[in-house]
Amino acid sequence: MTTVNDASRSLNLLDLTRTQMEEFFCSLGEKPFRAAQVVQWIHRHGLREFEHMTNLGRNLRAQLNVSASIIAPEVVKDELAADGTRKWLLRVDNDNCIETVFIPEEDRGTLCVSSQVGCALNCSFCATGMEGFNRNLRVAEIIGQLWLARQLLNGDIAGPSKVTNVVMMGMGEPLLNFENVVAAMQLMLDDHAYGLSKRRVTLSTAGLVPGIDRLREHCQVSLAVSLHAPTDELRNVLVPLNKKYPIRELLAACRRYVDGAPRRRVTFEYVMLDGINDSVAHARALIRLLTEVPAKVNLIPFNVFPFTRYRRSSDTAIERFREVLWAAGFTTVTRKTRGDDIAAACGQLAGRVHDRTRRRARPQSQVVGYM
Ligand code: SAH
Repeated sequence: MTTVNDASRSLNLLDLTRTQMEEFFCSLGEKPFRAAQVVQWIHRHGLREFEHMTNLGRNLRAQLNVSASIIAPEVVKDELAADGTRKWLLRVDNDNCIETVFIPEEDRGTLCVSSQVGCALNCSFCATGMEGFNRNLRVAEIIGQLWLARQLLNGDIAGPSKVTNVVMMGMGEPLLNFENVVAAMQLMLDDHAYGLSKRRVTLSTAGLVPGIDRLREHCQVSLAVSLHAPTDELRNVLVPLNKKYPIRELLAACRRYVDGAPRRRVTFEYVMLDGINDSVAHARALIRLLTEVPAKVNLIPFNVFPFTRYRRSSDTAIERFREVLWAAGFTTVTRKTRGDDIAAACGQLAGRVHDRTRRRARPQSQVVGYM
């Protein structure tokens, strides 16, 4: 769909931040300000043909036609859920597809963006993890999801169709693809590109401690952490990465992340699994953990997928859990399940992963409840 010229010989400009694009134009003997112009054409106006970039000279346009290209992933499936949630299956190479989800709400439109083909972390309640892992996405493949969504939503009459927020909560662990994810987020924040504020771009991590510290130095977007359990014993089972970075270290990194930014809070995600992590005792333990971190809590009702042995907590259990946290002074919201009729809800994104870890669709054997 998006091939504009001979890709094999050219540099894909969707891979470049504005700074990198300045270097590229300097290498062509052009002034650095060309980068801002071209970033605007590509990202603000969604253009993919150099001929239409009217403030560039004819020679430069001809040169770009030879040496550069603008290539995003290819849309292979476009699904619309009953609640207006939209999911795209995007081909990133011959073997692999990723998924991107748009969630319209009254006051905002959130795009859920993938960062990797599959995921290496193998969280026991997540469909993406069960698909295995293939590779990191390139910058063009990450920012390309936003670039495409803006065009595909344009003219949509079914509801609010503007992307106002981006969450790096699709397939993959964004902090394990650090450079490419940060470069893509820089474009999201760049006024010449998408101009989103840092509050409206959220990175969600399973808890990669060094990555959280690096992020603080490079790109202070909003941080969400998939906590899911109040004890190491239980979290080791749900999020195996916890064995490497236990809760205490993770929370210390979260504190460092918001340190010095008075009104900033970390969002802690907590998937509600029936009989596993959803008791009042778990809620109290969570409160004890979070007292020293400026925190918001996001409860995610578990979304089922094939082969999982977990069940969603009852509405009563979720509400009771929320009330205990609320009474302790924590802003706690239960995330609405969106788009589950098209498998677009949290944890249901599977894409099409050519697995290199050979663990595709392995039935889960470890389902343990503590406390
Ligand atoms: N790897 C990152 C980004 C994924 S975000 C992270 O772990 O944060 C996707 C969110 O949905 C995470 O909080 C994840 O733990 C949660 N999730 C995964 N599977 C789920 C499921 N089946 N039901 C509900 N939430 C799920």
